[in-house]
Amino acid sequence: MWQAEARVDLDAIRANAALVSAATTARVMAVVKGDGYGHGAVPSARAALAGGATWLGVCTLGEALELRAAGLTAPILAWLVGPGIPLLEGVVEDVDLNAASTEQLADVVAAAQLAGLPARVHLKIDTGLSRGGSRPEEWPTLVEAAAKARDDGLVEIVGIWSHLVYADDPGHETIDAQLAAYQDALAVAERIGVVPQVRHLANSAATLTRPDTHFDIVRPGIALYGLSPIPGRDFGLRPAMTARARVALTKRVPAGQGVSYGHTYYTDRETTLALVPLGYADGVPRHGSNVGPVSVNGKRYTVAGRVCMDQIVVDVGDDEVRPGDEAVLFGPGDRGEPTADDWAEAIDTINYEIVTRFGSHRVPRVHVGGAEHG
Ligand SMILES: *Cc1c(COP(=O)(O)O)cnc(C)c1O
Repeated sequence: MWQAEARVDLDAIRANAALVSAATTARVMAVVKGDGYGHGAVPSARAALAGGATWLGVCTLGEALELRAAGLTAPILAWLVGPGIPLLEGVVEDVDLNAASTEQLADVVAAAQLAGLPARVHLKIDTGLSRGGSRPEEWPTLVEAAAKARDDGLVEIVGIWSHLVYADDPGHETIDAQLAAYQDALAVAERIGVVPQVRHLANSAATLTRPDTHFDIVRPGIALYGLSPIPGRDFGLRPAMTARARVALTKRVPAGQGVSYGHTYYTDRETTLALVPLGYADGVPRHGSNVGPVSVNGKRYTVAGRVCMDQIVVDVGDDEVRPGDEAVLFGPGDRGEPTADDWAEAIDTINYEIVTRFGSHRVPRVHVGGAEHG
């Protein structure tokens, strides 16, 4: 018996990984940062590997070490390691580390010296996103420093990589400009004597729409969880997460009754209110107040009044709803329930944020499917 849960369909993740793998001749790095976009990093990684991924990608070193501690042996890239992070464990645990500046490279080299092992590094070029990555002006200096560390036996230069600005608009001019800047960076590196083992640039959207960005590895995230990286475009992916709860209480109230904090909603007739035990502490965006979709027993309604920390109220009219009935915030959408895309549209965000928020401690994450079921 559950009160509220985030149900994660691992067979869907495996099938999505297989679909993505079939869309490319490159290797697939399954991105499981943000606790697998709220789906659980370790089970999501296992399902993606079962579907054909062979690499794993995360943001922090801590995320990478969690995967290693769970016994995952695939190559893992951790791409955001700031100053003061103890990189030694990353080197010892065979985690690939990013370097986007000579300072970051020096930290990696220092860890390699401590470990007495060469560190595996991916050098990142900023091709226009202006986030991580070395500016083209600083790139030759970074590559020269990496080549020296390599010659000293302190690093293995595994990859040269970058990240796209606008892959969700496959015809956007920035993609061609970034491809050109990336090719330039590879050429500069080659002149310095650095030819990486792998080159990688594409996220989900580019994996599904721009084969010219695939190179040796693609890095899909959102597609693995079954959500479209391009709103409104159907790639045949299956959403893996269902966020649902059982109605905790129902009550009849008269017309003109204000509902929830601030009375931002008033009933317009005598009606039944259903209390659903999920709130913003669980990942329901508070911006969903009066606009977020919810299905109860398969029928669609909208959140009535403010989203609270622990609960929301749904006005179900004269429909027959009882405590214990199923309320679904979002799911795959094939049982009449809203999807993460519907929530994203209702509150003007992206589907990524909707599912990633549901990684809380209070809502049990229940994994179904996966290897143990065949
Ligand atoms: C998050 C992320 C990805 C995956 O992006 P999606 O749009 O979810 O496929 C790939 N590469 C990097 C560097 C990222 O930060």
